Amino acid sequence: MTNNQREQSQRPNTDDISTHRPTRRAFLFTAASGVAALAAWRPSFVAAMGGGAGAPSTVTIIHFSDVGKPVGKITVPRVVKSEAEWKQKLSPVSFEVTRQEGTERAYSGSTWNNHDHGFYRCICCDNALFNSETKFESGTGWPSFWQPIAKENIVEAGDMSLGMERTAVSCRECDAHLGHVFDDGPRPTGLRYCMNSAAMRFVKTA
Ligand SMILES: [Zn+2]
Repeated sequence: MTNNQREQSQRPNTDDISTHRPTRRAFLFTAASGVAALAAWRPSFVAAMGGGAGAPSTVTIIHFSDVGKPVGKITVPRVVKSEAEWKQKLSPVSFEVTRQEGTERAYSGSTWNNHDHGFYRCICCDNALFNSETKFESGTGWPSFWQPIAKENIVEAGDMSLGMERTAVSCRECDAHLGHVFDDGPRPTGLRYCMNSAAMRFVKTA
């Protein structure tokens, strides 16, 4: 290879470094605009399609204050994170339960035997989920409630995993798996929301 040839073969690299940055910045800018445009366009599409895992969209939930009082309906962006981001944010058991539809071992969680007054927020996104007023002794080793704090804040869906027909309960705001609901609960609803401690964060109130 002559000096001239070497110079020529290296030149594209040199040129690339000098022009690459602005080009890449322009590309990123375009990509960001594209995402914004997609987010603006997507909600109605997602709503029409009945939602979709990981799809950007908004959700309407009942917002609760720090003392567990309902503040009103709010529409917020659905919380969407990558598996790596959830892994970083959550403990291993919380990650397994909420993002991989796992179940904590009975009697292993922090709130199955909790009798304090307060309410339970989603461990992933802080959406309010259950109130201690509706918690009861189910004898299962999992925190159990006869109704959610607001039906708007959760999603119930058929679950045929493990060869059983069950109804899975998840968080409306971030799709975290929370547990299952069964129809052998106490009055007044007759429902038993069998939750995982690891999916929730307890907020003690006076
Ligand atoms: Zn959530």
